[in-house]
Amino acid sequence: MINAQTKLFCVIGHPIKHSKSPDMHNAALKKSGINGCYVAFDIAPEKLCDFVAGMRAMGIAGANVTIPHKESIVKYLDGVTKEAEIIGAVNTIFVENEKLIGDNTDGRGFIISLMKDSGFDPKDKKVVVLGAGGASRAVVSKLADEGCSEVAVYDIDSEKSEILADKVREVTKKNSVLSIKAKELTEKAKEADLIVNCTPVGMKETDPVILNEECFNTKQVVYDLIYNPEKTALLKSAEKKGARILNGMGMLVYQGALAFEKWTGEKPDTEVMFKMIKGE
Ligand code: NAP
Repeated sequence: MINAQTKLFCVIGHPIKHSKSPDMHNAALKKSGINGCYVAFDIAPEKLCDFVAGMRAMGIAGANVTIPHKESIVKYLDGVTKEAEIIGAVNTIFVENEKLIGDNTDGRGFIISLMKDSGFDPKDKKVVVLGAGGASRAVVSKLADEGCSEVAVYDIDSEKSEILADKVREVTKKNSVLSIKAKELTEKAKEADLIVNCTPVGMKETDPVILNEECFNTKQVVYDLIYNPEKTALLKSAEKKGARILNGMGMLVYQGALAFEKWTGEKPDTEVMFKMIKGE
């Protein structure tokens, strides 16, 4: 029931109509019996400041932030959490003492999914991360925090992976993070316990393959942040060689669940959220 006490939550992005977040959060709100409603707003970059003013004026109780606003929104908020500061991007806004605070739940969502859905413990493990963009920053800093013995980051633009590795080493004080070049990638991947794809490569059928089959083995976990398609060419290839594979659906659910808990003080039913995303 929507009435005068209904709390409003939202996701903003540009474009946004593909987002599964409204389905996922509305199902969780309903299951928890919370009088709330979650909608999606397409906010053009030049309207971002107006959106934040609107969020304050309308008393929107919480928001998720997606591409292209994750970094540019920071300057309009009253503060950010340590995690958002480390990652340099915001994916969640919550209200505290009437102030709008930016947080980032992507890294924690990834780690929960990795540990819960595959039983993988990152401590003392060797990892190769493909891509050095926003999602990679969240994943790499969490993996470093969890005590991986090595987190080797590869990006098509080696300057980007070097900057990311330097930044994560500086903020986490972990020397396990390094940047690798194309010529080292195959050997590092073969030795890795975990391979994580943080690039958008694999979303389209025509996309190139970053790692070929010789990189995979039965002892590995291969995690692709992409969840549409459910099984990318990378995951198919890793599965063929006997690796355990996971797509990004778990990360999507758990980063959303962490935001939900921050806004409402209640843990959502993640099974309901998974079902909604899978369209079951
Ligand atoms: P991003 O900021 O664009 O970063 C992607 C990085 O990968 C860029 O640095 C890009 O370089 C690099 N790259 C592109 N092609 C490459 C290749 N062939 N080899 C190596 N590096 C390559 O994107 P993002 O926001 O981090 O997101 C990455 C992916 O994660 C997307 O598919 C996104 O949908 C997914 N994601 C999933 C979740 C989830 O909850 N499951 C959460 C966040 C993100 P250039 O910029 O030079 O192209």
